[in-house]
Amino acid sequence: MATMPKSASLLRKILEDAHLAHRKGEPFLAVFDLDSTLFDLTVRVQKIIQAFAGDAEMRKKYPEACAKLPSARVHPQDWGLLEGLARAGLFEADHPEFFHDLHTHWAACFFSNSYLHEDQPLPGAVEFVQALERENARIMYLTGRDVERMWDGTVASLRAWRFPLDREHTQLVLKPHREMNDAHFKLEVIQNALHTYPHIWLFENEPVNLNLVQARCPAVRLVFIETTHSGREQAADDLDRIRHFETDLAAFEEFKKLPRS
Ligand SMILES: [Mg+2]
Repeated sequence: MATMPKSASLLRKILEDAHLAHRKGEPFLAVFDLDSTLFDLTVRVQKIIQAFAGDAEMRKKYPEACAKLPSARVHPQDWGLLEGLARAGLFEADHPEFFHDLHTHWAACFFSNSYLHEDQPLPGAVEFVQALERENARIMYLTGRDVERMWDGTVASLRAWRFPLDREHTQLVLKPHREMNDAHFKLEVIQNALHTYPHIWLFENEPVNLNLVQARCPAVRLVFIETTHSGREQAADDLDRIRHFETDLAAFEEFKKLPRS
């Protein structure tokens, strides 16, 4: 028998766990971060840079740097802007004012509803979340985005990609206030969920968030999404880790047909 990649077999095991929990009548919760977990943000960041490059006022103020901007290429593994700009030969030390204005523009656009429709799901993400929901798993989207600036765009983006939403088994949780600390906000939501759900899986790309949950809620099972992160902390070596959500859904359907006592 061909062996499945480790990430695919992990994802299938989680589907099987959800299936078996449902058969036993045990509540099962899957918690998904959004940015760099379910969604790749590469296009969002690229479009934000392009908009700045096309702004007449900025082109007048920074003709040389703006001329180089179209060749800035954002890669999925980038964190923020610096790596993409370096590929265009733009470095903060040479253009401090330009970087300051560009960063201000990036932050205003990135933390807004305006560009969320550019995000692309990681491979297999939609299908995996849909499959979990079919097993009656509770789906929670838990994100550091905040309600005021990003609720509408987040709902539109999840709906557009057909992630399960607006159903009895789904919940979307954004920070009620932008200044809240992401890690502590997520921890508190998960601690509350533990009162209801004996089985919780958390999918998350940011080690700071994973490490806090691991320390304070050891019963929660963690999946580290190896896309990109802030670099402020590292994920524990022994964490399960994946780079996408592709798994063998047909094999899972066969598993469900197996006779059980
Ligand atoms: Mg994230």
